[in-house]
Amino acid sequence: MKNYNSRTRTLVTGGAGFLGSHLCERLLSDGHDVICLDNFFTGTKDNIVHLLGNPHFELMRHDVTFPLYVEMDEIYNLACPASPIHYQHDPVQTTKTSVHGAINMLGLAKRTGARVFQASTSEVYGDPEVHPQPESYWGKVNPIGPRSCYDEGKRCAETLFFDYQRQHSLDIKVVRIFNTYGPRMHPNDGRVVSNFIVQALKGEDITIYGDGQQSRSFCYVDDMIEGFVRMMNSEAGFAGPVNMGNPGEFTMLELAEQVLKIVGGKSKLAYHTLPTDDPKQRQPDIALAKEKLDWEPTVALEDGLKETVAYFKELLD
Ligand code: NAD
Ligand code: UDP
Ligand code: UDP
Repeated sequence: MKNYNSRTRTLVTGGAGFLGSHLCERLLSDGHDVICLDNFFTGTKDNIVHLLGNPHFELMRHDVTFPLYVEMDEIYNLACPASPIHYQHDPVQTTKTSVHGAINMLGLAKRTGARVFQASTSEVYGDPEVHPQPESYWGKVNPIGPRSCYDEGKRCAETLFFDYQRQHSLDIKVVRIFNTYGPRMHPNDGRVVSNFIVQALKGEDITIYGDGQQSRSFCYVDDMIEGFVRMMNSEAGFAGPVNMGNPGEFTMLELAEQVLKIVGGKSKLAYHTLPTDDPKQRQPDIALAKEKLDWEPTVALEDGLKETVAYFKELLD
């Protein structure tokens, strides 16, 4: 049920984070009334400071593990630390954020009749035996390891979403996000794109883990946000889960080469040991997103990296 004016009232949890801040921007430009909720664990006001003067934007300091009573039409649930360094800092809180956060946002959606979107992850596939991973693959996840707080938390959140759909007929939308990069990534969260760019800009060695032949697929943030919005606006009854990511696959050596080409400078490659459980490959199968949402990424890695380099250059100056 919409309020008396025609703007959609939209809640973005984790709205001060990397993806959340881009989503808030996009929703404002689409004419929504946006509430950005964040506890600033990994997010920062700097990411949304330029939105604070907009009368249709509201910032709320709140932790999703606690109940929230507001009137909403749409909820995007993004709150959760996303990088291993961050989510392993307080693993119990990470699971609580995924599980209690999902329960609260689903309870809110149930009471208000809002459509509710969950930012899930390719990590639900764990260390996959199937490549690339279609949504029908159930995954191979260690339930008791150091990554489990994130992987199992996100899996349980998906379970809750589908049980609220079955039990309470909620209108849910679940997206499994694969590696995404762009401006406002954290400069020191240990992710490969931010690491390589920051190292290159500082003239430090580029840290290649293992032989650098492992591959990943990197999606530029604007493409991902377009996918989120298409999913939220998709036909009622299409709940997903749906993979979103860029299928273009690059080895870490190729990524280092591209970053060095853009940044220039004198950095050399330095080889380090490969972390345990580091997947050799990860690539999304996005056939479902193409079919149902007519969505696929459009930004080439080189172009996205240029934007990201420009952001980090300014940040480090
Ligand atoms: P991020 O760390 O920049 O954003 C997460 C935001 O959630 C931060 O602003 C943080 O302060 C906030 N937050 C954390 N715990 C909270 C809590 N208990 N209450 C309220 N706010 C809380 O990470 P991101 O990359 O923007 O990720 C956003 C979402 O997308 C996450 O759910 C993440 O799991 C998912 N995701 C991201 C990627 C990626 O490549 N970036 C990949 C897969 C999934
Ligand atoms: N909740 C919330 N806001 C609301 C409604 C519910 O935060 O507007 C939270 C509340 O903590 C509740 C949870 O969502 O415990 C699940 O709600 P639900 O109605 O599914 O179950 P309840 O626990 O109330 O039986
Ligand atoms: N990696 C690397 N150097 C770094 C950081 C990461 O070679 O400084 C590698 C890492 O071992 C992995 C890949 O880059 O194989 C992607 O790592 P990231 O943590 O960004 O994402 P994920 O492993 O979750 O896909």
